[in-house]
Amino acid sequence: MLAAVGGRDAMLERDYFSDSYSAARMRFRQAVQASGGRLTSHRNPATCRSESLGPDGLTTDVGMIGPAEAKRILVAQSATHGVEGFAGSGIEVGWLAMGMAGELPKDTALLLIHALNPHGFAMLSRVNENNVDLNRNFVDHGRPYPANPGYVELRNAICPRTWTPEALKAADARMDAYAKVHGAAALRAATSSGQYVDPEGVFHGGRKPTWSNHTLDQILRHHAGPASAVAIIDLHTGLGPSGYGEIMNGHQAGTDGYARVKDWFGGEATSNEEGSSSSAPITGDTLVGGLRALPRAKVTGITLEYGTFPLSEILRTIRADNWLRIHGELDSELGRSIKAEIRRAFYPDTDQWKRSVIARSVEVYRRMLAGLCRD
Ligand SMILES: [Zn+2]
Repeated sequence: MLAAVGGRDAMLERDYFSDSYSAARMRFRQAVQASGGRLTSHRNPATCRSESLGPDGLTTDVGMIGPAEAKRILVAQSATHGVEGFAGSGIEVGWLAMGMAGELPKDTALLLIHALNPHGFAMLSRVNENNVDLNRNFVDHGRPYPANPGYVELRNAICPRTWTPEALKAADARMDAYAKVHGAAALRAATSSGQYVDPEGVFHGGRKPTWSNHTLDQILRHHAGPASAVAIIDLHTGLGPSGYGEIMNGHQAGTDGYARVKDWFGGEATSNEEGSSSSAPITGDTLVGGLRALPRAKVTGITLEYGTFPLSEILRTIRADNWLRIHGELDSELGRSIKAEIRRAFYPDTDQWKRSVIARSVEVYRRMLAGLCRD
């Protein structure tokens, strides 16, 4: 049986978290093996300049715990936004270390996807090896992309040519002026809802399915294809109050999945469509990929989004990272400072924050599992 979180003294919450992608990968693989799970690994072809990787390079690792032909599967995925993988990895490792797989009923399996975007995790970036935001990439690339005229208007302010206090002040003034005319929500949509016109810019959704998009599709079809019910938790950080894990309903209003999330979590589940979510409205998130990969299953998906710092700071680090990628030098004082800031923005690395993250993850795990087994 699982002891109450916080009542254990053999292992502290911070022990589940790792300081680098490579350390997280190794810790996850060990935890899956120690749980008697089956490990598979998908090699990302990109190279990485930030940390020395072992011979396996960059991989998305998958742990399947429970029967291979399970009727019900609880899925969690980390590092959809690479640098957010520090938290997501800690949660996945924590669940295994706490023995939570022991709570799975018969005919139910746990599928853990570790580092869906391994390049972004290792490089301390939200985006992937091609500057694509995976949570905007699961659109139908054969159809016209959603337009974002606000982004086009503000692109040079979002990422100014130089990253100096003067240039930033002028850029911020332009963005403030836009918000005065169009409203704060319009500014948020312009900057972060996603855009498909500027491959170098922030929140770019890509022009074709990414490696991670294909990889998620393969993983879900292979492991969860035969299941009749699948519940998916996509683990994120950066939005909302510090340490709080917001449950975001990933489905469109009016769908069965939307109603199930409401049923399982009541008013606690926020929604873009109702304006209650901390996220700007987005298109092409990973749940679209889950629904596409599992046409025969009842799929119920949420984003579990942990707050870290105020939104203005988060956006600033995303813009800085984007500037660094286009105009800056990674191996420079400014480059190192930008990377340290984005890491801290998405992974506060304090014991208190980690305790909140783990405690909430345990609660959400149990509620997702209860919903999955009830429906
Ligand atoms: Zn995220």
